[in-house]
Amino acid sequence: TTCQLHMRKFKDGDTIVIEPWRAAAFPVIRDCAVDRTAFDRIIAAGGFVSVNTGAAPEASTIPVPKADADRAFDAAACIGCGACVAACKNASAMLFVSAKVSHLSFLPQGKVEAKKRVLAMVAQMDKEGFGNCTNLYECQAACPKGITVDYIAKMNREYLGATVTYAEKVYGKD
Ligand code: SF4
Repeated sequence: TTCQLHMRKFKDGDTIVIEPWRAAAFPVIRDCAVDRTAFDRIIAAGGFVSVNTGAAPEASTIPVPKADADRAFDAAACIGCGACVAACKNASAMLFVSAKVSHLSFLPQGKVEAKKRVLAMVAQMDKEGFGNCTNLYECQAACPKGITVDYIAKMNREYLGATVTYAEKVYGKD
């Protein structure tokens, strides 16, 4: 028989080491199954674009530079599997959240709510109890979709920019 654990395969006789589960934000349901609805709540906090419903607009009315479209597409490849959280010794969800933040903020339709989105999604991530990112890169190595830590750096820049904007709104520019 073969055993498949988060997209890795093992043959009879292989030695596998199973570490204690350390992601408090993903409670264990039973053997080899965890509750990943924390990811759903992070998406619900801001991982969408608000639109007025009606007829679908003409697809080519908003031009998108090829490089931005490609980067948004790469980020959108994230399937929310949670392997990044499982691989990180801090149980950080930064790779997942940064992919979801980036795939919208690279596109003009997503830029409108980008500041509000990054603040809301990071706040929800913290509320769910995920750990901090300490640049271990284990998430990137474990990701089956090739999401890179570059997206984390992008999200950190976006978050900082959004924090400054909101602070200026509340306290003024001085
Ligand atoms: S491992 Fe990759 S695909 Fe899976 S949730 Fe994390 S970023 Fe998304």
